[in-house]
This record gives sequence, C-alpha cells and structure tokens, in this order.
Amino acid sequence: MNLIFLGPPGAGKGTQAKRIVEKYKIPQISTGDMFREAVAKGTELGKRAKEYMDRGELVPDEVVIGIVKERISQKDCERGFILDGFPRTIRQAEALDDMLEEMGRKIDAVLNLVVPEEEIIKRIVYRRVCKSCGAVYNLIYSPPKVDGTCDKCGGELYQRDDDKEETVRERMRVYREQTEPLIEYYSKKGIVFNIDGKKDIEEVWKEIEKVLERIRS
Ligand code: AMP
Repeated sequence: MNLIFLGPPGAGKGTQAKRIVEKYKIPQISTGDMFREAVAKGTELGKRAKEYMDRGELVPDEVVIGIVKERISQKDCERGFILDGFPRTIRQAEALDDMLEEMGRKIDAVLNLVVPEEEIIKRIVYRRVCKSCGAVYNLIYSPPKVDGTCDKCGGELYQRDDDKEETVRERMRVYREQTEPLIEYYSKKGIVFNIDGKKDIEEVWKEIEKVLERIRS
C-alpha cells in the first residue's frame, strides 16, 4: 500500500501515520522529521534546511525530491509506505510520479485530512514533541501525565521552533498557495479520500481504517 497524507500543518498527519505504521507494518516517511533529524545532527543538509524551516518556508524542491527518492528505494519500503509531509508542491508530486513509474509502482490513496484554519493554529501552538521518541502531545487536547515529560519513554518534551504562532501563520499561507493545489492534482486521478480531521484522534483513525480496508480489498 503506497499512501500519501495531505492536509495543513497540524492536521494530525503524523499522529495518524504512526497508527498506520503499527497496524499495516509500512514505514512512515516524514520529510519534516528527516530534516529535523539532520538539523539536530548538524549535517550539511540540516544546515541548509534550517534556514527555510525557521522562516516557515519550503525547502527547495530538488533537495526534498533527492532525499525521498533515496528513502523509498530502501528495502523496508518494498511492501509500501506512508508519505507524511511530501509531496508539498506540484513539482514534487510530478517527480514522485516519475520515480514510482520507474519502479513500476503507483500511489494507491491520498488521505486528505480536512481541518479549519482556526483549529489548526490552536493545535500547533499547544503542540509539544518528545525529544527522544517523537511522540506528539497537545497541552489542551492530549496533555502528558507529568508536565514536560513523555508518558511513553520519560523523554523531555519541547516545542518545535517552527510551531510559534507567527511561523505557523506563514506555514498556513505556504500550504494554501503551494500544497492545496495537490488536492485537485490527485482528485483528477480519482484517488483522494477526504477525512474529517476535526474529530478526535480515535474517530479520525476509524475513518482512515475504513478507507484503507476498502482500498485493500
Ligand atoms: P513538517 O514537519 O512536515 O511540518 O515540516 C517542517 C518543515 O520542513 C516545513 O515547514 C518545511 O520547511 C520543511 N519540509 C518538510 N517537508 C517538506 C517538503 N516536502 N518540501 C519542502 N519543505 C519541506
């Protein structure tokens, strides 16, 4: 199963992708996570990406396309993958189509998480992430049991640099301008499934499971 998650930042793509990984045993490919890892390690890629990320802008297409191409040709992606945060521009989507075609594969479904903008801002500004295991919390909707500490591994929780309100607004603008057109791009191929992302995590997950069971049968 080759899947794409679409939806604005903070729609819940990462949270739901982790559930897909667990149930369907396919890897989550999050370009955002890959960049954050590179930034933390201080690699050349990380240094280049950080400039854009801090401003809420997109990293140049050729950089992102290169890292995704390398990642999806790895062995653990043979049975499928879930792309989270990629593609984000029409150019990235076209490049993805080309690389999959070369591999004799295609995208089976695009899960589009629909969430209104005011809700998004609230979610992101209160979002906290575990430094060690990447688990995601929200101080209002799903707070950790102990302030600042991950329930799962005891790691320290932090706020992503790009989760500050001003940057979030810029990321939303970029989403509307550059990423939203992908909904039409994939709708023309008849593979978009709209999911109501306003509901709580469990309900959203049930809707996603229904879609995935349908495309698997
Ligand atoms: P995310 O965690 O998906 O919200 O990504 C965080 C940041 O990483 C974005 O705001 C971009 O600066 C960068 N990024 C992640 N994925 C992409 C992509 N597919 N294309 C360009 N930039 C990306």
